[in-house]
Amino acid sequence: MAKKIIIGNWKMNPVSSKDAEKLFISIVKFLNRKTRTEVVICPPFLYLENLKSSSRTKKISLGAQDAFWAEIGAFTGEVSPDMLYNFSARYVILGHSERRTLGETNETVNKKIKAALSAGLIPVLCVGESVRDESHDYFDLVKTQLGECLSGVKKTSVAKIIIAYEPVWAISSTINRKDATSADCLEMIIFIRKILSDKFGSESKKMRIIYGGSANEKDAEDFLRNGGVDGLLVGRASLDAKKFIEIVKICEALNK
Ligand code: PEP
Repeated sequence: MAKKIIIGNWKMNPVSSKDAEKLFISIVKFLNRKTRTEVVICPPFLYLENLKSSSRTKKISLGAQDAFWAEIGAFTGEVSPDMLYNFSARYVILGHSERRTLGETNETVNKKIKAALSAGLIPVLCVGESVRDESHDYFDLVKTQLGECLSGVKKTSVAKIIIAYEPVWAISSTINRKDATSADCLEMIIFIRKILSDKFGSESKKMRIIYGGSANEKDAEDFLRNGGVDGLLVGRASLDAKKFIEIVKICEALNK
């Protein structure tokens, strides 16, 4: 069985490299060397270089929050997957709802996933609906996101991809957000597993599916135990070393 994974998405935080290092070190310090849980931190691009040396303990891996689809060239403002790999990133979050709001489409996410895989990065593909409508159209939306974002991805590569189910209505930055329950999560995870199985056959069983949406030290156990997931994508709570470590410990305890 694949290792459980806890990924911290720092988003556009903290404001200085010094603060980033402090937060990172306080997380690394408390992680057990023999932890069976994979722990990943995705800081802003700028901090990767600095955090590289602190991540050498191998207790924690680094990831990015986006990557472009081309290797090199005239793409002002973009960062390529190869650059990220050379900066020690091994994971990359793609298709996050906050980037979709800024214009990211399933088509661009699809190109980015293929480029990330070619560069040796593990894509963490975010999918999820903005609202849960009574006619259950949100299932179709997630199905379309998966179909279009994973279009043309080879069966032999899918085991490397992590799917993050993030209902946008539960994310901490959403105005008037609501709490998702582990039952909400489980229902969608079963649906996602079915779509992936129809698309990729038995290889899909190797894919990890995680949950994100205000996950914290209080509800982590419920999501991990009852939500049908292989881990969590943690935003706000990953900016608090104590809370993030607590989440990792909860995951560890369930792994025993
Ligand atoms: C996210 O946006 O990826 C996320 C998980 O955020 P939060 O935990 O803050 O809702």
